[in-house]
Amino acid sequence: MKKNKRKNKVIIVLIMLLLNSVMFGKTPVFNGDSAYQYLTKQTNFGPRNPGSNGYENCKKWLIGFAEKNSDKVELQKFIGVDPKSKEKISMTNIIARFDPKNTERIMLSAHWDTRPWADEGNYKKDEPILGANDGASGIAVLLHIMELLKENDLSFGVDVVFWDGEDLGRSGHPYEFCQGSRYYSLHIIKPKPQEGIVIDMIGDADLKVFFEGNSMEFNLDLMIDVWNIASKLNYGKYFIKKYGPTMYDDHVPLSYIAGIPTIDIIDFKYPNENVNYWHTHNDTADKCSPKSLKIIGDILIYWLYHR
Ligand SMILES: [Zn+2]
Repeated sequence: MKKNKRKNKVIIVLIMLLLNSVMFGKTPVFNGDSAYQYLTKQTNFGPRNPGSNGYENCKKWLIGFAEKNSDKVELQKFIGVDPKSKEKISMTNIIARFDPKNTERIMLSAHWDTRPWADEGNYKKDEPILGANDGASGIAVLLHIMELLKENDLSFGVDVVFWDGEDLGRSGHPYEFCQGSRYYSLHIIKPKPQEGIVIDMIGDADLKVFFEGNSMEFNLDLMIDVWNIASKLNYGKYFIKKYGPTMYDDHVPLSYIAGIPTIDIIDFKYPNENVNYWHTHNDTADKCSPKSLKIIGDILIYWLYHR
């Protein structure tokens, strides 16, 4: 009797595993080198601040990639402002949608524009930066995730969004930043995602991601989930369960205005507390690593395929 019960249990578990793999497929594997190639592909266009040549060329490439690797692409064109010259600039959010009619959905996003100034550096402060980490890294991870989503269906919908005009603000003026996510938040493309994750500055070869203050307020459960996934995948030393800086990033308009509770995965100390490459001409591809991109990719893929 006892033995039979155990046998039945084993059979039930096997059937469940089989059903699980038939219904949901298997968890795809994120490749850090593929993501890193998408990082250098972007930096090879040069600086991608709105209106520049690099920006226009990169936009064309990103739209082509999105059209090939998602179910539906929406281009959200809007007029932003350069806060220094006060000139109007036309900008574009790129929204790649998977299972676009599904009302149960989540959002993954990053900014694709780069900063027009190197104002935190000590030379050529008025010239645009390459933005390998601050810009290209988040998009690189999302591009490779899109390839994996295209081949491995989920039971819910996903909006993968590339924000424009995130870094077009003067230091000390937070409301000049995040122009694309603010525009989207006032013009949501329905069905509206229930929650979201922003990734920003996650390519740093010396990766250390801390709890971010606004994320804790917007979606504490999701933040805890993500850090627990990191521990489970043996990435605990990169995802530290301690307070880091509180950021004004794209998750603020998304949570406050759009009502999409969103967390920000960001490693703001780039590369560490003593040295700074952020908003300088040192933000180049050699300061980023395939390994860091893989850590972020693995965590996001685990989150997507174990929900
Ligand atoms: Zn920035």
